[in-house]
Amino acid sequence: MIAVFVFILGLIIGSFLNAVIHRLKTKESLITSRSKCVSCNHKLGARDLIPVVSFLFLKGKCRYCNVKISWQYLLVELSTAILFVLGYFLYLSSYCPLNICSEIPLNILLVYFSYITFCSFLVVIFVYDLKHYLILDKVVVPAIFISLIFNLSLGFNIFNLLLAALIVSGFFMLQFIISKGKWIGGGDIRLGFLMGTMLGWPNSLVALLLAYIVGSVISIFLIVFKFKKWGDQLPFGTFLTLATVISLLYGTQILNWYLGYL
Ligand SMILES: [Zn+2]
Repeated sequence: MIAVFVFILGLIIGSFLNAVIHRLKTKESLITSRSKCVSCNHKLGARDLIPVVSFLFLKGKCRYCNVKISWQYLLVELSTAILFVLGYFLYLSSYCPLNICSEIPLNILLVYFSYITFCSFLVVIFVYDLKHYLILDKVVVPAIFISLIFNLSLGFNIFNLLLAALIVSGFFMLQFIISKGKWIGGGDIRLGFLMGTMLGWPNSLVALLLAYIVGSVISIFLIVFKFKKWGDQLPFGTFLTLATVISLLYGTQILNWYLGYL
């Protein structure tokens, strides 16, 4: 039951993240401007804005102009909800026997709250980079500060976080210098710093390795199935954010498994 509540919360936050992603591009205010259809500009009412339900009920089309609504909206809502639920099972469910969360310690709640906050930032960075090949400082810089505040209040060592941030961003900086900005962009360097402040050491190393593994697998898939050609640009930030989410969830397990394997 609580998992269902967490899922619905994830859908609502996912719907909000869709608005954030859209308005970061159009530069509309997040607070003052009303939601409207991206093709006919008709203002959307409450019944058009229910996550997933409106999309399915309207069969993926705008109620006013019939133009297809992007699958992005549905996928972002569902992915956010799934991430929220995965985090629930990882951090909270053991404190909620028989679906009653009576005694979740405050620090565990804080762990979960920081996790869903980090996920929200990563979803925005992922989708924006996938769509526009751009990692916005407007998103990454506040995320760096917020992740530092969360992790420091959770008892992380500041030197651990900064060292991780400097190693990952330094690694990208090196590639940036060697390739004169061809392999990697400035946005990736700052995203590397964020990976460090979110994950600390050694989990940011896990994320870095995962990013290259996930990146290679997806690239080979895209080339084999002719979605992309050899040498085409790929949004590297999407691999980094994906790897960061996986490491947030399972970084420690992956590390233990790997060390055990050695
Ligand atoms: Zn419309």
